[in-house]
Amino acid sequence: MEKIADKMDKIVSLCKRRGFVYPGSDIYGGLANSWDYGPLGVELKNNIKALWWDFFVHKRDDMFGVDAALIMNRKVWQASGHEKGFSDMLVECKKCKKRFRADHVDGKKCPECGGALSEPRQFNTMLKTFLGPVEDETGLTYLRPETAQGMFVNFKNINDSLHPKIPFGLAQIGKAFRNEITPGNFIFRTREFEQMEIEYFIKEGEWEKQFEYWLSEMKKWLRMIGLSDANLTFREVPAEDRAHYSKRTVDIDYNFPFKKDELYGIAYRGDFDLKNHQEASGQDLSYFDEEKKERFIPHVIEPTFGVDRTFLAVLSEHYKEEEVKGEQRVYLSLPPVLAPYKVAVFPLLANKPQLGEKAKTIYENLKQSFMVSWDDIGNIGKRYRRQDEIGTPFCVTVDFETLEDDTVTVRDRDTMKQERMKVGDLTEYFKKHVS
Ligand code: ATP
Repeated sequence: MEKIADKMDKIVSLCKRRGFVYPGSDIYGGLANSWDYGPLGVELKNNIKALWWDFFVHKRDDMFGVDAALIMNRKVWQASGHEKGFSDMLVECKKCKKRFRADHVDGKKCPECGGALSEPRQFNTMLKTFLGPVEDETGLTYLRPETAQGMFVNFKNINDSLHPKIPFGLAQIGKAFRNEITPGNFIFRTREFEQMEIEYFIKEGEWEKQFEYWLSEMKKWLRMIGLSDANLTFREVPAEDRAHYSKRTVDIDYNFPFKKDELYGIAYRGDFDLKNHQEASGQDLSYFDEEKKERFIPHVIEPTFGVDRTFLAVLSEHYKEEEVKGEQRVYLSLPPVLAPYKVAVFPLLANKPQLGEKAKTIYENLKQSFMVSWDDIGNIGKRYRRQDEIGTPFCVTVDFETLEDDTVTVRDRDTMKQERMKVGDLTEYFKKHVS
C-alpha cells in the first residue's frame, strides 16, 4: 500500500507543476503556510463556489446572498464574544520554544523535541489591524475570523428590504482570517482561508427538524462533489466541546491523506447571535410573524463549509493512479462540473495546417459554451496524459478522417474509451455530460 505521506506529496507537487496551487510569495522563499491559487486552481475553486451557490442559493426560494465587508466595526466582535473568547489554548516547549495548540498535542511532552511543555494559556486568534494613521486602541479592529457575523449584522437590513418569510437563510462566501498557532498540512489549515456559510433563521420549536434537514442537504452536497461515504464521518460534538449556546453540533470529518480531520460543521446556535447584537447595538432584531401576529428573535442553524478544505478533499478523493500498458497513468476523476477544463481539442499532427485550422474552428466553437483547452505539443498519448492529470473529462482529436466526413474522436477520461462523433453533435453531447 502506498504511504500516506506519499499521496500528500504527490498532490502538492501536482498542484505546483500544473498550476493549481503555488507556495505564497514564492520568489522570496515563500511565507510559511501561505498559498496562491494558480490558473487551474482558480477554475477549480470557482467551480466549487459556483456549484455551492447554485445549489444553496439559486435553486432555492428561501435563501439570500450577502457579501459583507471583511473589516467590520470592532463592536461586532465584542458583541459576538470573539474579542473575549475566540481563542485557542497555547502551550510552549520550555526547551525548543516551539508553540502548539494544546488540543493538538498528546500529554505534556513536546512532539518535536520531547521537552516539557508550559501550562496552557489563552491565545486570541483574531488578526488585528488598525484603521487610520494612528496605531492605537481607537483604530484597532480585526480581520474577520468567520463570515457568519456579516450575515447577522445584515439580518435587519434584509428583513426591511425583502420581508422574507421565516424560515429563510442568508448565504455568504468569502475570506476569513485566523492567527492559527499551528497552521499546516498544505491548504488544510492556513491563516487566510475562504468559507461558504449559511445562517438559517427558524422558529425555536422547529430546530430539531431543521437541523436534520440541513444535515441532509449537506450530505447531498457531499455527493455532488463526489466525496465517498467511506471517507466521511459525522461526529456528534459532545456537550463539553460545544459552544455553550449550542444544543447540537455535528462535525463532518474527511479522511484526508495526512489524517481524518474536520471538513465542515453544522451547529444549532439558538438565538445567541441576534440577541447579543440586539443588546449591544440597541436595534430591534426581532422578526414579526404576520400570520400569528407575534414578535420573536429567530433561532439559527448554521451549516459551514471551508472552501480550501473542500478543494483539498476533492483533490484527495479524485487523485488516481493506475497502470495502463505498463505505464503509470495519473488522473483526477473530478466530477465534470468541477473540472477546470471540460474539453481539450487536439489536431492529430501539429505540422499539418489543414488539421490545425479545422481543429481551431472546433475549439473556438466549443469555447462559446465551455472551458476548453488546446494542445498540439507531443504525441496524442502524451496529450491525453496531460489532460488526465488536470482532470479534463473529454478530449477531441481532429484527424484526416475529420476533413472528409466531419467526425472526430472523443475520448473519455475515466474509461479511456474513444468514440467517433459528428462535429455538429459535440456541443449537445458535452452539455449533457459536463454540467
Ligand atoms: P478547527 O477545529 O479545524 O480549527 P474550527 O472548528 O475552528 O476548525 P469553524 O470555526 O467551524 O472551524 O470554521 C468553519 C469551517 O472553516 C471549518 O469547517 C473549515 O472548513 C474552515 N476552516 C476553519 N479554520 C480554517 C483554517 N485555518 N484554514 C482553512 N480552513 C479553515
